[in-house]
Amino acid sequence: MDTAFFNGIFLPKEKIRVSPDDRGFLFGDGIYEVMKWYAGFFFDPAGHLARLKRSLREIRIDLPDPEAFLNISEGLVKANKLEDKYALVYFQVTRGASPRSHSFPDPAVEPTIYAFARKTEPVNTSTGPAAGVMTARDIRWSRCDIKSIALLANTLSFQDAHERGLFECIFIRDGYLTEGSRSNFFLVSDGRLYTHPESENILSGITRKNIIRYAMESGIPVVQEPFPASDLAKISEAFLTNTSAEVTPVAFIDSKKVGTGEPGPVTRQLHRKFLDELTIMKDR
Ligand code: PMP
Repeated sequence: MDTAFFNGIFLPKEKIRVSPDDRGFLFGDGIYEVMKWYAGFFFDPAGHLARLKRSLREIRIDLPDPEAFLNISEGLVKANKLEDKYALVYFQVTRGASPRSHSFPDPAVEPTIYAFARKTEPVNTSTGPAAGVMTARDIRWSRCDIKSIALLANTLSFQDAHERGLFECIFIRDGYLTEGSRSNFFLVSDGRLYTHPESENILSGITRKNIIRYAMESGIPVVQEPFPASDLAKISEAFLTNTSAEVTPVAFIDSKKVGTGEPGPVTRQLHRKFLDELTIMKDR
C-alpha cells in the first residue's frame, strides 16, 4: 500500500480525503515540485527547495515551514521502502479549502499539502534513443515561470504529441521556441548551445540550470536567447531536459530530421557530464 503525505501526516494514500472546497480543486490555485531520488540521494535538492519557495512567494501562499519539503520527501522514500531504488517525489501545495470565491480566503486558511513518492526506472545511460517531437503554438498563460498545478494547456498540448506517438510538444510563442510541455528545450546551431533565457515564458528547470553549468564548465558556448522557429533548418542537434527523463536527444522535429537523427556530440558530452555528476554524488 502506498504511503503518502497529507497535511502533516504520513498515511495510506487511500485514506486521504480532499475538501471539494479546496482551491487547488476549484481554481488550480496551487504549485508543485518534483524531485528525483537516485537510490541514495536527491539530485539538487537545494535547487528544488529554492524553486518551491519562489513558486510559493509568487502566488502568495504563506507556508510556515517550506524547508520541511526535504524531510517529507525523504520520509516518503523511506515509508515506501524506496531507499535503494529510483523514485520521483511529487509535492504540491494549494491555498487551502474555503467556500468558492475569487479573492483569497480572509483570514487565510491552512495551505493543503499533498505529496507522494513513486518508483521509477533508471534512465538509459547510453544517450538514446532519440525522440520525435512536434511544435505547436504556446497556448499557455503569461507566467510559465511559476510551477503552477494549473497545467491544462500543457496536458492538452502534450496529448496532441502523445496521440501522434511523439515524445513532446515544443511551444512556439511569437515566432520563438520556448520549451516543451513538460521539459526545457536545447539546440545546437553553429557550434553554440541555445536555450530560451529565464523569463515568464518558460519554467526554469533544475535540470536546465545544471546542463547550462556543465556546458560552461566544458567550454561550450552557451547562448541564452530565444531561437526563431523559422531557423530550425539551421540546427545540428537538439535535446530536452527534465527531472524524470534527464537528457533526451531529439531525432526529428515536425517530421524533419535534426542533424543525422542520432544524438549529436554536444548532447552526448553534456549527458555524460550529468551522468558523471550522478556517479560523484553516489560515491560521496
Ligand atoms: N518546463 C516545464 C513546462 C516543465 O513542466 C518541466 C518539468 N517540471 C520543466 C520545464 C523541466 O523542469 P525540471 O528540470 O526542474 O524538471
